[in-house]
Amino acid sequence: MSSISIDLTNSDTRTALSERVNSYVSSEKRNLIGLDRQELAATLVEAGIPEKQARMRASQLWQWIYWYGHTDFSAMSNIAKPLRVLLDEKFTLDRPETLEEQKSEDGTRKWLFRFPPRGAGNPVEVETVYIPESDRGTLCISSQVGCTLTCTFCHTGTQKLVRNLTAEEILMQLIVARDRLGDFPHKDAQGDGFIPEGDRKVTNIVMMGMGEPLYNFENVKKALLIASDNEGLSLSKRRITLSTSGVVPGIARTGDEIGCMLAISLHATNDTLRDEIVPINKKYPISQLLNACRTYPGVSNARRITFEYVMLKGVNDSLQDAKELVRLLKGIPAKINLIPFNPWPGSQYECSDWGQIEKFADFVNANGYASPIRTPRGRDILAACGQLKSESERLRIKDREAINAMHAMVAGHGE
Ligand code: SAH
Ligand code: SF4
Repeated sequence: MSSISIDLTNSDTRTALSERVNSYVSSEKRNLIGLDRQELAATLVEAGIPEKQARMRASQLWQWIYWYGHTDFSAMSNIAKPLRVLLDEKFTLDRPETLEEQKSEDGTRKWLFRFPPRGAGNPVEVETVYIPESDRGTLCISSQVGCTLTCTFCHTGTQKLVRNLTAEEILMQLIVARDRLGDFPHKDAQGDGFIPEGDRKVTNIVMMGMGEPLYNFENVKKALLIASDNEGLSLSKRRITLSTSGVVPGIARTGDEIGCMLAISLHATNDTLRDEIVPINKKYPISQLLNACRTYPGVSNARRITFEYVMLKGVNDSLQDAKELVRLLKGIPAKINLIPFNPWPGSQYECSDWGQIEKFADFVNANGYASPIRTPRGRDILAACGQLKSESERLRIKDREAINAMHAMVAGHGE
C-alpha cells in the first residue's frame, strides 16, 4: 500500500489564524534583490563604485543579502561607512508589501504579496504557501500572474496571463518566507552564521504556484540560480522542483541551465484526453513529452522525474488508465504523485472516489513506482495555488471559501 493516510473530513472545520503583517513601504530606490552577481557588480559601478572594487563589494553584499538576510545597509559591518551611506541613498532591500499572512492549524502558512506595476498596468497580487512536514518544509512559488494555458481542471487556467513575475518577485517569495519563519541568521560578520539544512524551515521549493514556469524561463532560471547559490540562500538543486505542463523545448534547457528536479503535469495517458484537459498537448503530444523526460539531463534513479496526475472521477481514474500509465513510463526513472482533484466554483469535474484513488495507487505501486497520494494541506486557510488573482480579477471572499486547496501536490518533493 503506497498511499499515506489522509483525513478529508475534518480539515475544513479548522479555524484559521489570520494576521495582517507589517508592510514594508516600497521605495523608489532600486531593489538589489534578483540581480545576478555580474549585474550586481555592474550596478555598483553605475552608482560610482570603482570598477576594481565592484566585484569584491558585490560579493560582500551578496552574503549580507542572501546569506544573512539583512535589509539594512548600515549593519553591513565589513563595508566602509561612506559606502554604506551611498548604498542606502541609491538602493534598497525592501521586501514587498505583504497584505496578509495566514497560519493553518496544520502549520501551513500562506502569504499574499502585492508587487508594484512593471511599466504600465496595475499592481499584482501573488500567493505563496509554505507546507511543513515531518522531514521537510516546502515552499510553493508562483512564476506568473495568471497563465496563458487553459488546463480544464485548473482554476488558474480560467485567468488570462496578467504578466510574468520578475526574478526579483520570484525570489522575494522565498526571502519573505525565510524572514517570517526565522530562517535567516541575521548575524553580524562574526562567524558564518550558517543555518544547516536540517535546522531550516524552508528546505525545499517547488515551482507549482500560479503560471507555467517554462513560459517565463529567463526569470525563473535567474531566481533559481540565485536560490541555489552556495554563498547565499544555498538551497540544494535536488530540493528545487520545477513543474511544467509540458513545454517540451524548455525541458532540456531546465536540466542543462538550471539543473533542478523536474515534475511533469501528465494527467492523462492518451493524446485524445490530454488534448482536452491539458491543451498544450496539441502542440507537444505525449510521445514528445516523454522523450524529453527520457533524456532529461541528470535523470537517474536517484534523481527521478515526478509525474503529477490529478484524479478526476470517471475521466482518467480507471485501472485501464493506471495500466497505460505504467506502460508509458517504462524506462523513465519516475515517481507518480496522485493528486485528489480540488474543485473550484464552476469546475466541471469531481474528485475520484477515495477507494478508486487507492486502487489506482496500489496498481501503480505494485508495478514498481512510488505513487503517494497527496494529502490536501492548509484547507482551513484555503492555501490554494490555483486561485491567485490580480487586483482586478480577485475572487470574492465567498468564492475563495468554496475553493479547496490545490496544494495537495506540493508536499513531498525533492530529497
Ligand atoms: N503550470 C505548471 C505549474 C503549476 S500547477 C504545471 O501545470 O505543471 C501545479 C500542479 O497543480 C499541476 O500539476 C497542476 O496540473 C495541478 N492542478 C491544477 N489545478 C488543480 C486542481 N484543481 N486540483 C488538483 N491539482 C491541480
Ligand atoms: Fe497553467 Fe499549470 Fe494551471 Fe495548466 S495547470 S492552466 S499550465 S497553471
